[in-house]
Amino acid sequence: MIGILIFVIGAIFGSFLNVVTYRLPRKISLLFPRSSCPHCGRFIFVFDNIPIVSYLSLGGKCRFCGWKIPFRYFFIELVSGIIPVIFYLKYGFCMEFLLYSILSMILLVTSFIDLEYMKIPNPIVIFGGLTFLLIIVLFNPNRLIDGLISGLVAGFLMLVLSLAGKVVFKKDAVGFGDVKLTAMTGLCLGLSSLLLDLFLSFFLSAGIGIVLIMLKKVRIDERLPFAPFLASGTFITLIWGKQILSFYLKLVGLQ
Ligand SMILES: [Zn+2]
Repeated sequence: MIGILIFVIGAIFGSFLNVVTYRLPRKISLLFPRSSCPHCGRFIFVFDNIPIVSYLSLGGKCRFCGWKIPFRYFFIELVSGIIPVIFYLKYGFCMEFLLYSILSMILLVTSFIDLEYMKIPNPIVIFGGLTFLLIIVLFNPNRLIDGLISGLVAGFLMLVLSLAGKVVFKKDAVGFGDVKLTAMTGLCLGLSSLLLDLFLSFFLSAGIGIVLIMLKKVRIDERLPFAPFLASGTFITLIWGKQILSFYLKLVGLQ
């Protein structure tokens, strides 16, 4: 029962995340005017604005002009509903549930913006950083130092990579937006999960990058958006981090 409630609240947040994903990079106010169809400009009825349900009942099309609503809208609402339920089942109602649900939603939005615009908007990173600080201070101030160090380490490592990329490859392998987003993620995760997260994110980024180059979908000198890989690496770390670490320790004979 609580699971269903969390799913519904998450999906409602997801509906707002769609607004953020569309409006923030276009520098349109997040609150006004109310939602309209990007194609015909007609305002969307309140009953056509129900997360997940409306997309399905309208068959993924605008009621007025038949414009095909991008699948992204449905996907973001669905994932925003599912992820907090998974964290609830894994962690219960606690600070981690709150931190990780918010982190996942932020990474979801930045992934889609990064895929489309190759940039990460500052307001999202600032919002995330301040929210995580506030939650940690309110619920478990003892974790504050760990979070701050983790954020600094994450930012520093990415900064070194970014500078190394500029010097060695003469190109922006890692953008400054990635540095800030990873620092924000580090603050939320804490040191114990950070290194695994970075490893997985780079592993996924390199692996998928190589596949895309082999399929000739991207050129070898092209930059891939990092946020989707950071989002995937973070999610895997938060769900299976302990199992992966203990598997690794057994593998190298330390456990
Ligand atoms: Zn329309």
